[in-house]
Amino acid sequence: MEREHLIKPLLNYRYPTVQYGKGSYLYDENGKAYLDASSGAVTAGIGHGTAEVIEAMHEQAQKVSFVYRSQFTSEPAERLAKKLSDLAPGGGYWSFFVNSGSEATETAMKIAIQHWQEKGQSSKYKVLSRRVSYHGITLGALSMSGHVLRRRRFIPLLEEFPLVAPPYCYRCPMGKTPSECGTACADDLESAVKRIGAEHIAAFIAEPVIGAAGGAIVPPEGYYRKIKEICERYEILFIADEVMTGIGRTGAMFGMEHWGVEPDLIALGKGMSAGYTPMAATLVKDHVMEPILHGSKVVMAGHTYSANPQSAAVSLAVLEYIEKNGLVQAAEEKGRELLSRLMELAGRYAIIGDVRGKGLLLAVEFVADRGSKEPFPASLGLTARVTDKAFEKGLLLYPAAGGVDGAGDAVIVAPPFIISEEEMDELVRMFDETMVEVMREVTP
Ligand code: PMP
Repeated sequence: MEREHLIKPLLNYRYPTVQYGKGSYLYDENGKAYLDASSGAVTAGIGHGTAEVIEAMHEQAQKVSFVYRSQFTSEPAERLAKKLSDLAPGGGYWSFFVNSGSEATETAMKIAIQHWQEKGQSSKYKVLSRRVSYHGITLGALSMSGHVLRRRRFIPLLEEFPLVAPPYCYRCPMGKTPSECGTACADDLESAVKRIGAEHIAAFIAEPVIGAAGGAIVPPEGYYRKIKEICERYEILFIADEVMTGIGRTGAMFGMEHWGVEPDLIALGKGMSAGYTPMAATLVKDHVMEPILHGSKVVMAGHTYSANPQSAAVSLAVLEYIEKNGLVQAAEEKGRELLSRLMELAGRYAIIGDVRGKGLLLAVEFVADRGSKEPFPASLGLTARVTDKAFEKGLLLYPAAGGVDGAGDAVIVAPPFIISEEEMDELVRMFDETMVEVMREVTP
């Protein structure tokens, strides 16, 4: 066999070669069709091969693709920053462009730390996050992530940032039920702040709806208002990691809109360019930038490709496409329908413990026993079984959890916002068939 050169996620697996994508489908070299029910890694929100975006790409490439941000600014980058500020909760945001979600959260962390330094409070450098969370793979982002499997190899290089309880109602870390919990998980942030001392804490970071680490985990009502209130009371910046939830995915432009909270910083990635180009951003509220503008006047972050006009033009075209076609509303409506259809399925398969999510960021969690919510043994690799079986059928799902302390087996179902009625039928049918086969394998 010919030797390989590309390092792929699994080195002992033969991946099909993709040929092209159109709308909600991807096609491999054998002409097999895959319904992209996960939008890849919850990224391709507007579907594949969108003509308007390809045109914008072409148009910008004819002008200029790259300039170094220390030498030039560009119209697409300026327009994109303005657009994001207009769209983000409450407005009044600056944008710092980067190339991946990990860079966006790490840049948010760095700007938060710099904010306090400029105010003469350099002891405020810790960033609190939650167990069952994922904020990215670079060392700073991993330091803020409660994702045991992804951290394990690099523990000596990671900051020991404290982790607080996640708002994971299906497996409440506080041992309560949603109706009488009083959002005790949010109080856990306050306990941690008191223990560590607010004078050491720069920020708290959270995904509005928890994605990769747990699977579309929606917090109880009142959770984020309380979190924001605690952050304000103790002078801690609140970073919303909207890399997965951002730009329409949850049926709102930004996930935090559901709870009426204006974050101090926001990390964006994935959906802001819908996979048409690597593009991500850290949004920074005016009041966070203020001491930097009056202090050192330089944000200590950035990458060669930051704010390149090519990516900015593509991202702008994606945002305009989402607005013009009412896709945020579509995500809300289609999400409601898909959620109820997945719930219907849950009634028929005892291994489905929970179906949850917001908009078109949905997940199905699997359990060995519904009553006790006991998860399957890790050795069974239940999540991978489900995604593999679905893949064989031509249905793409995103594996969540699996290897995260305190989280069960789950898959994310997050199709593009443009998914049609027939495609949704197809999705549910293939999910149903997948369940039949997995049930056969794992139940006696
Ligand atoms: N934050 C969240 C919430 C994410 O879901 C992800 C990616 N799964 C990241 C950060 C990291 O983004 P990237 O893979 O683009 O670095």
